Amino acid sequence: MFIPTVKEVPADAEVTSHKLMIRAGLIRKVASGTYTYLPLGWRSLLKIIEIVREEMNRAGAQEILVPSMQPKELWDQTGRSTDYGPTMYRLEDRHGRWNVLGPTAEEVFTTLAAGEIKSYKQLPINLYQISPKFRDEFRPRFGPIRSCEFIMKDAYSFDADNEGVDKSYKAMYDAYCRIFTRCGLEYVIVDAESGEMGGSGSHQFTVPCESGEDTIVYTENGSYAANLERAAVDALPKEESNSDISPTEDVHTPNTGSIEAVCAFLKTQPKDMIKTLVYATGDGAVAALVRGDHDLNEEKLTQALGGAHVELADEPTIEKVTRAKVGFAGPMGIADKVSKMIIDHAVAAMAVGVTGANKTDYHTKNVVPGRDFPLEGQNVVVTDIRYADDGDTYNSKKLLFKKGIEVGQVFKLGTKYSKKLRAKFLDEQGNEKPCIMGCYGIGINRILASAIELGNDDNGIIWPISIAPFEVLVTCVNQDDERVANVAENLYQRLLDAGLDVLLDDRPVRGGVKFKDADLIGMPIRVTVGAKSVAEGNVEIKLRAEPQSQKVPVEKATDKVVQLVSSLKEQLNR
Ligand code: ATP
Ligand code: MG
Repeated sequence: MFIPTVKEVPADAEVTSHKLMIRAGLIRKVASGTYTYLPLGWRSLLKIIEIVREEMNRAGAQEILVPSMQPKELWDQTGRSTDYGPTMYRLEDRHGRWNVLGPTAEEVFTTLAAGEIKSYKQLPINLYQISPKFRDEFRPRFGPIRSCEFIMKDAYSFDADNEGVDKSYKAMYDAYCRIFTRCGLEYVIVDAESGEMGGSGSHQFTVPCESGEDTIVYTENGSYAANLERAAVDALPKEESNSDISPTEDVHTPNTGSIEAVCAFLKTQPKDMIKTLVYATGDGAVAALVRGDHDLNEEKLTQALGGAHVELADEPTIEKVTRAKVGFAGPMGIADKVSKMIIDHAVAAMAVGVTGANKTDYHTKNVVPGRDFPLEGQNVVVTDIRYADDGDTYNSKKLLFKKGIEVGQVFKLGTKYSKKLRAKFLDEQGNEKPCIMGCYGIGINRILASAIELGNDDNGIIWPISIAPFEVLVTCVNQDDERVANVAENLYQRLLDAGLDVLLDDRPVRGGVKFKDADLIGMPIRVTVGAKSVAEGNVEIKLRAEPQSQKVPVEKATDKVVQLVSSLKEQLNR
């Protein structure tokens, strides 16, 4: 076996799973964001793939394989060659034709459906593949958790009506629950953003753990869980203002482009400031207002604008809207300079605030929402556009926060892709309609990494049996003792005959080295064959997850191990 275990890990391995995958000889880095999977790592991925495949097939989906290299022209038709931005790899062939390396495959699957589906009688249909995906991640990190090439299971469902897509979605949702349970993961299902995908419903499957990059926002009683991009907050109560507030007053605030600088200068606090951000959308500039201590959530802003793609405006646009240098934008007098003014609830609840003056080097004090800038009107919307924060509630329940790794996501896509790529069918009445789609992704490599994040101790990995590279490790402690070596070899053969995945450590090295490696690579069941116990006619059997071992007569060892494997597996098939 090629299992190059090591003691030291490179400095770029920050999280436990990444470190252990290197130490246990599962992976090796090729370049930033790309990894070679060595025998143990690949065996585990294959087991995950098999679980995913079984559950997808059982849910009625059918496996196909589409190319990773896809004509850019398909992505031009949906506008995603632009929307996907620099995350998409592009390459030109010798004839000058442009291709992309698929970060996902909606365009190819929908085009396939467009060519093949003619009638409602062919629907529903759900197609999937398990294949490499490519994303030029801005910051590849955490090993396989965020890499530039990874294996994804991606499925696409096509239905004739909303009832159908609900059913397809539910079938995938249920299959995902079975997949992650069988892989031995604890997970939470969160209400997730789907703004840019163009759909109307989505859930993320997230494994709670410290090294996760996602934040799950939830209520203690479990009645609500959403990812931070999506998590809704209650509107804050309107602040009381006891006396009449003086008229607005411009103050000279030179060299104070940032909230902190203005606060220091005016001796005020971020929560008493109003930030005015100018965004560019397809329909012109939009002004978005949040409180100085709050962060604007672009996903929520996208939703508030009906799914429009938003991007912070460039300097010339900001200067045109505000007639001032960047850093001095304010809400007064700009409602008619922008196509929309979107105001966060918390700003509308303020009694008074400090804002930019739309005049270079000036801020305005005593700004009263509703008095000095509009809270209603044709192009004015007051809604929730900020990130949830400590102290926020939703439905009057306190919001809590924890980190997690997104391992899968299901989306309702609606007809965004089927319309653009003409995936249409004739309904019962002979009317032409676009298919209603769903898409469903699972990160195979992230399942592996998450399982290790959840299952480990100071000595190494503790695998769930379903995705362990091997179910059983037979350790021969005294390889130079022929009798012991024979018992180990025989037991190994019998376990193989019983249909188990077994690894035999028959290396000519000291017992101590073998035990260390055994803990590190972490196979769930360990059978230790040593001179002392063999002399008594026994071997020792131990679960990786438990401290104590038991002595079992050699001739009963096979049955005992078979029994242990099936009971460990059963625990994961709840
Ligand atoms: P993220 O928000 O973490 O970048 P995503 O939401 O863009 O992920 P999807 O488009 O939903 O990812 O892809 C489906 C699944 O593919 C994800 O749930 C995740 O498990 C996996 N995945 C996505 N990006 C990566 C990556 N860079 N490395 C490894 N797995 C990934
Ligand atoms: Mg996702």
